[in-house]
Amino acid sequence: MESTPPDDCSVKVAVHIRPLIGDERLQGCKDCVTVVSGKPQVQIGSHSFTFDHVYGSCGSPSTDMYEQCAAPLVDGLFQGYNATVLAYGQTGSGKTYTMGTGSGDSSQTGGIVPQVMNSLFTKIETLKDQIEFQIHVSFIEIHKEEVQDLLDPSNNKSDTTSNGKVAHVPGKPPIQIRETSNGVITLAGSTEVSVSTLKEMAACLDQGSISRATGSTNMNNQSSRSHAIFTITVEQMRKINTDSPDNGSLKEEYLCAKLHLVDLAGSERAKRTGSDGMRFKEGVHINKGLLALGNVISALGDEKKRKDGAHVPYRDSKLTRLLQDSLGGNSRTVMIACISPADINAEETLNTLKYANRAR
Ligand code: ADP
Ligand code: MG
Repeated sequence: MESTPPDDCSVKVAVHIRPLIGDERLQGCKDCVTVVSGKPQVQIGSHSFTFDHVYGSCGSPSTDMYEQCAAPLVDGLFQGYNATVLAYGQTGSGKTYTMGTGSGDSSQTGGIVPQVMNSLFTKIETLKDQIEFQIHVSFIEIHKEEVQDLLDPSNNKSDTTSNGKVAHVPGKPPIQIRETSNGVITLAGSTEVSVSTLKEMAACLDQGSISRATGSTNMNNQSSRSHAIFTITVEQMRKINTDSPDNGSLKEEYLCAKLHLVDLAGSERAKRTGSDGMRFKEGVHINKGLLALGNVISALGDEKKRKDGAHVPYRDSKLTRLLQDSLGGNSRTVMIACISPADINAEETLNTLKYANRAR
């Protein structure tokens, strides 16, 4: 294990502004978000926020996002550092587009996840003579504070309802989040797929994206009220020459690190999704995860609080519990706040920018 922590342990926050989309243009929406030229600064109404990066619109080109936000995290994985990339924003703001986890669409190579997978295997290719790698993936979603396995092999097409939602498999024990004595978080009961090629990993991403539970709301009938977490675990065994003069023996070094790629639930408040009591309950639960995440990230970002040993409320939701060993400490975290530029979304966009601003 390298003793030096990553050069910057803090949470990085980027904003990704998507263009006006067809529907918004048809409704005659106006652009209400401006980027201050040459600065990672966003203005909406009388509010102004500065972030680590701003992509899209008049900010940096979206194509820079991978190199600046995710590539350092992939490098860190090879040094044994856990990491998390989170896409936050209201439904329709571009979270899935940004992550590149649209159903069965790993060929849409512009997203973060396909690029992570690509560079991971490119790197492994250059190192595989010296290091033995074992790569695992899991893909789960947290829906109503319950963990569901998106890679469960028993979730074949016949288990899928007409709206694409994975039916509950009776008799299957729920997946549990556990913590080992040395603080490693594990998921008991979820599928871990061992992969050795990019193609195998992409197949897992596609399979899970298709299983992802979706339902309809007033806002967008493809909207998702669940957090989807694609996790890549990289185990390395390398033989290193010890410098001892008498016997130049070989020592084995073992490193293990994981990268969580998270497409968060829509951040819009429950009242806007309206509809029945059931949906409202889902909204409340989702807010619990996003609320806890906001509190955790804000506590991590507050250096003074951190030095005073302030409590970081990981246990307040399944989401933060699951990400506990990959948020804070030696881990790197990037939050990408996705926003729509349309005036009809101004209120939610402002909420997203405020949430993201708290994370800095
Ligand atoms: P979310 O996952 O936040 O609900 P999506 O990623 O599904 O949002 O995006 C909503 C719509 O906007 C989709 O039709 C998507 O293709 C489009 N979109 C999102 N971001 C961009 C972008 N940066 N450029 C072009 N189209 C985008
Ligand atoms: Mg989505």
